[in-house]
Amino acid sequence: MKRCRMFTHFFVPLVLVFAAAAAPARAESAAGYFERVKDQPLLLREFLYRFPKGGELHTHLDGAAYAENYINWAASDGKCIDLSTYTISPPPCDTEAQRPPMADIQFNAKVVNRIIDALSVRNYARRPLSGHSQAFATFGRFANAVPGREGYILAEVTERAARQNNHYLELIYVTGMPAAIAVGASEDAFKQTDAVARWLENPDLQQAFADAVATTDVMEQQWRDVARCDTPDPATGCEVTVRHISAVIRTLPREMVAAQTVLAFMLVEHDPRYVGVNFVAPEDHPIVLRDYAWQMQLIAQLAQHFPHAARHITLHAGELAPGLVPPEALLGNIGKAVNIAGARRIGHGTSIVHEQGHHKLLQKMADQQILVEINLSSNDIILGVAGDEHPFDLYRQYGVPLALSTDDEGVFRIDLTHEYQRAVVDYDLGYADLLWLSRNALAYSYLPGENLFTDVTEGRRVKACRKDQPGAAPSDNCGAFLDNSEKARLQWQLEARLQAFEARY
Ligand SMILES: [Zn+2]
Repeated sequence: MKRCRMFTHFFVPLVLVFAAAAAPARAESAAGYFERVKDQPLLLREFLYRFPKGGELHTHLDGAAYAENYINWAASDGKCIDLSTYTISPPPCDTEAQRPPMADIQFNAKVVNRIIDALSVRNYARRPLSGHSQAFATFGRFANAVPGREGYILAEVTERAARQNNHYLELIYVTGMPAAIAVGASEDAFKQTDAVARWLENPDLQQAFADAVATTDVMEQQWRDVARCDTPDPATGCEVTVRHISAVIRTLPREMVAAQTVLAFMLVEHDPRYVGVNFVAPEDHPIVLRDYAWQMQLIAQLAQHFPHAARHITLHAGELAPGLVPPEALLGNIGKAVNIAGARRIGHGTSIVHEQGHHKLLQKMADQQILVEINLSSNDIILGVAGDEHPFDLYRQYGVPLALSTDDEGVFRIDLTHEYQRAVVDYDLGYADLLWLSRNALAYSYLPGENLFTDVTEGRRVKACRKDQPGAAPSDNCGAFLDNSEKARLQWQLEARLQAFEARY
């Protein structure tokens, strides 16, 4: 590292002379090519597939795997398939009761097709079922195929990310939460909101934390083994940096939500692989309709005990639409997530215009740079909100930072490139918008360290790296800055990938 920098000490100025002349022309021609192919779906797809995407901030670990993999894993693991509900279940199987081993029907195309449809939204429009019901129902159907295969899912999603030139993932998952739910259900203290000190000392929850850390060790090692990451022949997905978002299932009684939330805060506070707290499951669930404000207060209360995690809260909020819930339920979920729970990122934010005082809220989100994780296909299928009905442009007009995500590749049978293409087509994006979306995904990631950019929209870097050439070895000052920031190191790599991408055109 040091030798590199000594070398660049006199090498960099020459590079800069070259770059000053070459960089704008390259960017222009990538932008020019992009404008030419914008109306040609296949060429646009190819361009966006290669385009370096800074990361994906909103994807659920279990929902990211494709159904075909769940079927194969369930077959290998001796699991069963309930043919009345197409739900994967643990052994023992019972063929006479319509619950045969998955291995018995694994190659029966007719049955497998029905299972794939049940484990995803494939063909959902042909069924007498809403996209909302179908999408949320998939999670329960593949849930039993996940345990023991988490590392395989990491291998699958990192490989797909790397192929799309995406090298950073924050994966939302409920690791350890079944144990936390059991603690919440059995310990009286969790029924008392004023007993937080006792929650934090609860030995069973401490054990759940230790077990969740151990499960994460196993998951990551399994990924490295499956993808051959520590061999001379690693899969390309090994280059992808993965972090975890600890997810609380919020459709449960308060004591169970409280215990889970403590565990989520503990993981983010003490295990650097966990970078964010999130709340998951449908926002229109009767329990969430009753408890939403209470849940936000719970987060605020616990945040006082976990100063690091308190700055790493991202919440599904405003994943709602008129008609799905009464108008009164649309008035304030995003606002409460920001103002009460202190969320620094919002997942979906689809119902923003229905919130009371939404202009003020949008302004606040712009001022405080609270990013919205945008999921266009998911919002279309689950909520029926798309195109001009979606607040994508409204957020942009206010200067609220946005990033694109899939929520999730497997459930919605898409990939991240698909979401970039959808955004380009629906909102007539320019090349500068693509750069903004891609850079936002890292700038607003929950990776530790300072941001490489003082202004992401303008692409203005911190002083230490302002004159450096992406792709070349950094100057002493920039190198020192990068050494101190994991986030900036990944941002620097993204800039090099963008440079290489633009050089093709
Ligand atoms: Zn989600």
